[in-house]
Amino acid sequence: IRVRPLTCAETRRGDRQVVHSLGDGTVHVSAARHDATFGFSAVFNAGASQETVFEGSGVRQLVELAIDGFSCTVFAFGQTGSGKTYTLMGPLTQGETQPAAPGLLGLMQRSFACLLEQSRSRGSDLVLSASYLEIYNEQVRDLLSPGPPCALLLRWSKTRGFYVENQLSVDFESLEAIHNLLQQGAEPRRRRTSAHALNRHSSRSHALLTIHIRSRAVSTHLAPPSTYPSKQGTLCFVDLAGSERVKETGSSGELSVEANNINRSLLALGHCISLLAKPRGKRTHIPYRDSKLTRLLARSLGGSGITLMIACISPSSRCLSETLSTLHYASRARRVTTRP
Ligand code: ADP
Ligand code: MG
Repeated sequence: IRVRPLTCAETRRGDRQVVHSLGDGTVHVSAARHDATFGFSAVFNAGASQETVFEGSGVRQLVELAIDGFSCTVFAFGQTGSGKTYTLMGPLTQGETQPAAPGLLGLMQRSFACLLEQSRSRGSDLVLSASYLEIYNEQVRDLLSPGPPCALLLRWSKTRGFYVENQLSVDFESLEAIHNLLQQGAEPRRRRTSAHALNRHSSRSHALLTIHIRSRAVSTHLAPPSTYPSKQGTLCFVDLAGSERVKETGSSGELSVEANNINRSLLALGHCISLLAKPRGKRTHIPYRDSKLTRLLARSLGGSGITLMIACISPSSRCLSETLSTLHYASRARRVTTRP
């Protein structure tokens, strides 16, 4: 759980801080008619730096596991304005020329640095590539392909599971190159953003950046390299669209269609998580096919993947109901186990 600080606007209008972290992995929510404590594997309060979140959330281990061939996923969940994008990417310099201060870089850039460091120390046996997709209005689009975004087909095969047909995968070897890809995909022109009452630049789509890591087996013996299995891991970062309900955003018309699609996929995600959280013997069919988001996350959620969920919350009294709903959602997600 990451609790962001109160924003200037919230402080100015006199919002009260209703979320407190007790420092032992618990979050305490106390307001007029609510008093609840939740336990998690890690809780970061408003004072936690990006570095602290990176080191304390286990992302470094996920990078190492991805290099070892596992499918690792980090996803950020929470209402619009709760700090998902800040946590994953830091304050992006959209359109400005000044890059963000290094101390503010998010989990993604820190993971890339860690990955490239590992890659260097292991010699040249890692081949890295990236793909960047968004799901907007139940359409999958490629954020890296040049030209206007067009919808891609989501398919299923016995060997690959769910996959996106014709998605672009770009090889990279340097930190600068992957930062450029991230910047390119996150550009406001490409990612769907629209203004509404909660956050003027709130993202209305789910964004998934996946790093594919292939390690060529290095032969230290005289046998031909082909006799050594090579490993293929992935490291995926998912920035989910805001989890708030339509009525609270004051959306109407086209925006409300968007919000309904967002809610539908998050609802499907929540539904899958609830079912996955049940003991294995009592589980029924998991409806991954209910949305594009759950299809793409199927492996991360219930299969062979290793998944970290970062739930972002605002400490403000005005966000109380969304905060409680995020905490309940996260508590359910915590009970899900996968078999890496
Ligand atoms: P989301 O992606 O969940 O909609 P953002 O990441 O865009 O939310 O955050 C909303 C605002 O709050 C941004 O202005 C961001 O810079 C600020 N913010 C979020 N988390 C923090 C934090 N931990 N420290 C300082 N500012 C933050
Ligand atoms: Mg965002």
